[in-house]
Amino acid sequence: MKITGDQALVKKINKSLVLDNIRLYAPLSRTRVSQLTGLNKATVSNLVQELIDDRLVLESGEGQSSGGRKPLMLEFNPNAGYAAGVELSVNELTIVLTDLEGKIITRHTEPLPDHRVETTLELMQRMMAVLVAEVPPSVHGLIGMGVGVPGMVDEQGNVLFAPNLGWEGVPLREELEQLFGLPVTIDNEANAGAIGELQFGAGRHARHLVYISVGMGIGSGIIIDGQPYKGARGYAGETGHMSVEANGLPCSCGSRGCWELYASELAYEHTLIDPHPNTNTAYWVQQAMWDEPEAIRLFQCIGEYLGVGITNLVNSFNPELVIIGGHMRQAEPWIAPHVEAVVSQRTLPYHRQKLVIQYSELGEQSTVIGAAYAAISQFLGRVRISI
Ligand SMILES: [Zn+2]
Repeated sequence: MKITGDQALVKKINKSLVLDNIRLYAPLSRTRVSQLTGLNKATVSNLVQELIDDRLVLESGEGQSSGGRKPLMLEFNPNAGYAAGVELSVNELTIVLTDLEGKIITRHTEPLPDHRVETTLELMQRMMAVLVAEVPPSVHGLIGMGVGVPGMVDEQGNVLFAPNLGWEGVPLREELEQLFGLPVTIDNEANAGAIGELQFGAGRHARHLVYISVGMGIGSGIIIDGQPYKGARGYAGETGHMSVEANGLPCSCGSRGCWELYASELAYEHTLIDPHPNTNTAYWVQQAMWDEPEAIRLFQCIGEYLGVGITNLVNSFNPELVIIGGHMRQAEPWIAPHVEAVVSQRTLPYHRQKLVIQYSELGEQSTVIGAAYAAISQFLGRVRISI
């Protein structure tokens, strides 16, 4: 093992380790924390005392004794502070207030009047003013803000390219930190959705998963061994632009036959014999409920194309779980059998074993909750350890 950092860093790592174990497995005694972390009892006692002083850990009733004095149990305090989670989508802005366990306290959604950066920031300012007034009294108050955006984001929180918003090179983190005086994290909406599902939704028990956000396009959040995979520069997950038809329709990205043209809400315009202007999933779900053949056929086609792309992802990454989220999740009853059929016909046999395909458990909230979690995680001082 390579030792990195100085004493302060080692202490920070140990403190996060203790806190993470309490968060995940509470209620716990100090002895159990020591067993789980491999840290000696004196170190655990000191670190726990600091966490109690920070109000992040509380002592609760007495636990079971194995002889001798009954130990006090430790619990994580989700109300020591609150986080703001924001989802910027093509049509609307959603802001939630969560506790430190990602539980939503309040939620607001407003339509975006236009896509200009200034308009978006103004709306965010107005909505945040309402949210700030709703933060319950707590030791740490509002600890930060996490934002999910429909585009490519670099590690500095710049939105490099968001074609559906017409944004290029927007220093969003810097702008928001100046505006609100809070620590801000920015992530791609599909990565945030994957984190939301991993921490609090359908992916809670998974280590290797692909979350596919299917709306006006497709983006994916890839989790490998419990960590988001972002690629060399942070741009991984643009699965919507995998070619599924070698000489297919031209795409706005410059390529042809991209997956999202056939398997997202963009398909409403492309796959019907008579092009239909309605690109609203709720509309087509309503039609499908009335057994309208056009809607049934449309969802069959989208389901099959989703299956084709999922097959490619499963053969590439060998995940144990694929989660379908975004607006298209509403069409689960009509697309699911076709997704399953194509994946089971086409995926390599060993990859198919134990593979589960699910629909997002947090529904429309995956991204806002994942975004809030990014802010919480930063606040709790997680440190990546390189071994
Ligand atoms: Zn494309």
